[in-house]
Amino acid sequence: MLTEFGKLYVVATPIGNLADISYRAVEVLKQVDLIAAEDTRHVKMLLQHYGITNKLVSLHQHNEDKASPVLLEKLRAGQSIALVSDAGTPLLSDPGMPLVKMVKDAGLDVVPIPGACALIVALSAAGLPVTQFSFEGFLPRTSSARKVFFNEKVMSPKTWVFYESCHRILASLQDMAEILPLDRQIVIARELTKLHETIVKTSLGKALELVGQNDNMRKGEFVVIVDGAAADKNEHIITAEQEKLLQVLLRECSIKTAVAMAVEITGVRKKLLYQAALAMDKKKDA
Ligand code: SAM
Repeated sequence: MLTEFGKLYVVATPIGNLADISYRAVEVLKQVDLIAAEDTRHVKMLLQHYGITNKLVSLHQHNEDKASPVLLEKLRAGQSIALVSDAGTPLLSDPGMPLVKMVKDAGLDVVPIPGACALIVALSAAGLPVTQFSFEGFLPRTSSARKVFFNEKVMSPKTWVFYESCHRILASLQDMAEILPLDRQIVIARELTKLHETIVKTSLGKALELVGQNDNMRKGEFVVIVDGAAADKNEHIITAEQEKLLQVLLRECSIKTAVAMAVEITGVRKKLLYQAALAMDKKKDA
């Protein structure tokens, strides 16, 4: 006898404005046998708004390894399940990856129901290049790890995007300003689709001032988008940390050796480091 397996629907929900949900998502949430939600209390508000009275189970980062096999068995038994997170698209900095992988690996259907995703919403209104971009999720929590991250990104020619909380937005911008040039264009997208939605495109230096001086600019949820390094700008930039490294090496070695070592450590182009080393050497003699 052929068994009809259930389908797993990955359903995007609003990131603020409850109207930002598709007709199809509402239909799916009404019709499935079960909704697996990151926070069942949170999703109830959305369900009530749309008159959906469906059965809920919780699937969050602390139980998903245990809960996912149970849900797979329900799918095998023919039940259909909708996966939702607290906001936006599940799996994007949200739970769901173990379940989706397990269901795919088992050869069952995973059906995406598209909708809001904060990084895409922010990019669509940022006015920075989007042909190619990288999404970096949440940044590391410690300042030193963030600086390592910014050092890795400083020369990247692509636009990059990260999520940030109100607790760390100022500290992250301060760290960024130690590594990136202050005239680099960035976009701070805050409280998207909500009452206090703010999307500011400005230089890193001005953004730091704005967030530092205005309490409201440190409230809510944030997406930060950073312009890639322009090819012509790359010709002239080395970061403050790379400069410091070069200075230390120059104290101990010849220009040639210091530059060779700095190239190996930083991955920055030799010509650029060589020019910087010559300039430092000149300054020393002046
Ligand atoms: N899965 C979600 C998505 O599709 O965007 C992201 C979930 S992640 C746990 C939450 C983070 O997304 C927030 O800390 C914030 O950085 C960003 N975010 C979510 N909603 C937002 C909004 N309305 N405005 C700005 N950022 C938002």
